[in-house]
Amino acid sequence: MVHGLRCRGWRQETLLRMLENTLGHAERPDELIVYAGLAKAARDHQALATTVAALSELDEDETLVIQSGKPIGVFPTGPNAPLVLMATSNLVGRWATSEHFYDLERRGLIMWGGYTAGDWQYIGSQGILQGTYQTLVAVADEHFDGDLRGRLVVTAGLGGMGGAQPLATVMAGGVALCVEVDPDRIKRRLDSGYLVRATDSVDEALAWARDSVRTRTPDSIGLLGNAAEILPLLRDKGVVPDVVTDQTPAHDLLYGYVPAKHTPAEVAELRERDPDELIRLAEESIARHVDCLLAWLDAGAVVFEYGNNIRAQAAKSGLKAFRIPIFVERYIRPLFCRGLGPFRWLAASGDTADIDFIDDLVLANFPDNPLVARWIPLARRFVRQSGLPARISWLAHGERTRLALLVNEAVRRGDLKGPVAFTRDHLDAGGVAQPLRETENMPDGSDAVSDWPLLNALLTAGSGADLVAIHAGGGGYAGYMQSAGVTLVADGTPAADDRIRAALTADTGIGIMRYADAGYETAAKAVRDSGLRWFA
Ligand code: NAD
Repeated sequence: MVHGLRCRGWRQETLLRMLENTLGHAERPDELIVYAGLAKAARDHQALATTVAALSELDEDETLVIQSGKPIGVFPTGPNAPLVLMATSNLVGRWATSEHFYDLERRGLIMWGGYTAGDWQYIGSQGILQGTYQTLVAVADEHFDGDLRGRLVVTAGLGGMGGAQPLATVMAGGVALCVEVDPDRIKRRLDSGYLVRATDSVDEALAWARDSVRTRTPDSIGLLGNAAEILPLLRDKGVVPDVVTDQTPAHDLLYGYVPAKHTPAEVAELRERDPDELIRLAEESIARHVDCLLAWLDAGAVVFEYGNNIRAQAAKSGLKAFRIPIFVERYIRPLFCRGLGPFRWLAASGDTADIDFIDDLVLANFPDNPLVARWIPLARRFVRQSGLPARISWLAHGERTRLALLVNEAVRRGDLKGPVAFTRDHLDAGGVAQPLRETENMPDGSDAVSDWPLLNALLTAGSGADLVAIHAGGGGYAGYMQSAGVTLVADGTPAADDRIRAALTADTGIGIMRYADAGYETAAKAVRDSGLRWFA
């Protein structure tokens, strides 16, 4: 076992390392902002210091309670209770608006945690890299005979999440043309190897893209500029991409989307001077941006929203933006119906050898899962580990429990150098209600019912998961979503076996039941195969 225990046990220490790891990946570390413009890992620096101290003093039979990134207290709950419980960004329905959220945020009373920042489950860009790759592969399977080679993907935004798009496209074999307004973000993606090359010339970018498409060479090109200005230019030049999506922070008009003809610095100034004008300009630019997406949709391109709320923003300007499908319903939901989703694990030891060991374990034990067989070798080749070594891989209901138990056994035997934390994205079968994304167009119309993620959190907490969080949307997402996060620490003990068995079974079990309840036959079959009691 690695040294350096600062807490009273490895479960607490692992959670502390996950908090530090999340902040280690922050896009704006001084403000504790990890990604998506405003998604934070702690309310403020004082709250962070208190959280770190509380974790280091926490006993195994206590629970630390955190409200929107601020530690509130410690309760004597018993050895089978979670170590950490969180509720983040939750507002009573009628008050769950962006305006009210921003007001509370300015007064230091609330924090938005994104999906994985607020509950310390972020693993760096590998998570979004895998999710974006998974989506592009599903697009290729459905529209291009499973092959993205020689296909042009046009998108925008190279931020904390969007920065994964160029590499994900290359991994899937395609050519990515990514418009980004901030030169520093382009430089960061070039430095990390996520982006192959960049230019500020539309003509040069197009020449490179056409050449790579013609030779079917995987490629990624960063194009400096504003999507609301560059996309109309591309359209007017007669370009019709094969695939179009977007990852500008369109969900947030105040802290995210940069309107046309403005630099990020000018936006910061306007935000202070005239926030209403900033919102008006952003809405105007988004309308121009989405007008292009719709034109490309009509011209035969595969266009989908990747969950940044850009359709809802454009609809305010009267555009029929919801003709563009959401990626989850179109490409991912069939996987969720089997509990297949973004499961992930982190080596608390900090040693990449632990991740290599688990990679081998996964390949050996899940040969029938084609997502695993395709992804793990690619991840080994392309993913550069940063911070705590981690791996994401899409595993189904039952598979996740099996893997975590195998790993816990390996920790017990001393095959691994330290404990391993298991967690997942909130974008998962059981984790989320978001009527414009994960739960859009449910067959029974239950899109906005948030009972499901709340039940998920209650169940995993009742099963003794190490950390359980209930999140709602903040910033531009206020009122749009409810989600739940869960973390389990495999520390090699028999108690961890029990927690893993109960909590991971519950986590995806309630997920497949949610889809079965909504009317999906594949989900009903998954529930029947699971052996769980279900009142159909
Ligand atoms: P971010 O704030 O870290 O980065 C956004 C990037 O977009 C920045 O680099 C910014 O300079 C650039 N940008 C802003 N306006 C632009 C414009 N008009 N033209 C070109 N570039 C522009 O945000 P992020 O973490 O990368 O997330 C992006 C969006 O994607 C968010 O809305 C997020 O919620 C969404 N998202 C959804 C999912 C999902 O559910 N699948 C996953 C990840 C991200």
